Amino acid sequence: EALDKLIDLKGSIRVFCRVRPLVQTNNLKTKSPVTVEQEKIAVKSVGIKKEFSVDRVFDQESTQEDVFQEVKPILRSALDGHNVCILAYGQTGTGKTYTMEGTDGKLGIVPRAIQELFSLASEDSSSPYSFSISMLEVYLGSLRDLLAQRQPLFRPMECSTSCNLSILATKSGAVEVEGLTDVSIPDLKKANQWYCRGRRARSTSWTNVNDASSRSHCLTRITIRRHGATEEVSKLWLIDLGGSERLLKTGASGLTMDEGKAINLSLSALGDVIAALRRKRSHVPYRNSKLTQILSDSLGKEHPLYQFGSFSFPETL
Ligand code: ADP
Ligand code: MG
Repeated sequence: EALDKLIDLKGSIRVFCRVRPLVQTNNLKTKSPVTVEQEKIAVKSVGIKKEFSVDRVFDQESTQEDVFQEVKPILRSALDGHNVCILAYGQTGTGKTYTMEGTDGKLGIVPRAIQELFSLASEDSSSPYSFSISMLEVYLGSLRDLLAQRQPLFRPMECSTSCNLSILATKSGAVEVEGLTDVSIPDLKKANQWYCRGRRARSTSWTNVNDASSRSHCLTRITIRRHGATEEVSKLWLIDLGGSERLLKTGASGLTMDEGKAINLSLSALGDVIAALRRKRSHVPYRNSKLTQILSDSLGKEHPLYQFGSFSFPETL
């Protein structure tokens, strides 16, 4: 249902679906339950057949580069002063992190996007740009600064610093996360160092819970400043959303009730915001979750949103 809602979108919002290849844990003799056409994906499993139409489907063979080529034009928009969001949505294990972060040899959208920004900026001699990076994790309704000097060692509800940051709206209508570390990145090397640091902060502090990273949203923000007669600022959000398996009973998926509800809340709040934008409603319910509050100046009809949906079948259907 949530997927239907997200997929049924047009205009400045575009939806892509990427199909993950079967991996070792799957029975490799199993016939893939997914049939792919260029703009349509059909999923068949015990007694259920569903078809979804999207802007484009990336099949099992698709490479990180194929996916990035589709995203590339949006980076130009970001440099031109638009706030943009690229979101990965799907159940745990379907390839969201692979698509956004990638692996060492197979870089995903985020490192490629950062590289592309530097390269586009260096080609454009007329306008000097500068970039900065912030990373945060939204977990159980609290916000954790992944680039803060001192990282809390335990779960966010047990720490007092660098989490539970609050969200402010400035006079100009921009949204800010109060106290969020924003590091200036003069070159690609520095950018990658900070990005790696944020990723580490996300994973290492979570070893005591069984993969809490799949229950939290990880947001990377690149702030772009274009220096001219007036300074223009835009934001590029790259987001690895928490697993959408909320559709299952929390007990069955190993989630605690609180975690299940928290992810449920922010993902459904995100779905509601997107639905309201699509229907051109005058009221867009941004205030219903931290996630949508943070994105409220970057998710609007004038802001392109790229959304990657992913599926994992049949075991999680
Ligand atoms: P998620 O972040 O949605 O929980 P992951 O990105 O961690 O899922 O993917 C689960 C596993 O599948 C990982 O081992 C990942 O490397 C692998 N994987 C995901 N998508 C692909 C792909 N398109 N090609 C190859 N391996 C993939
Ligand atoms: Mg992941």
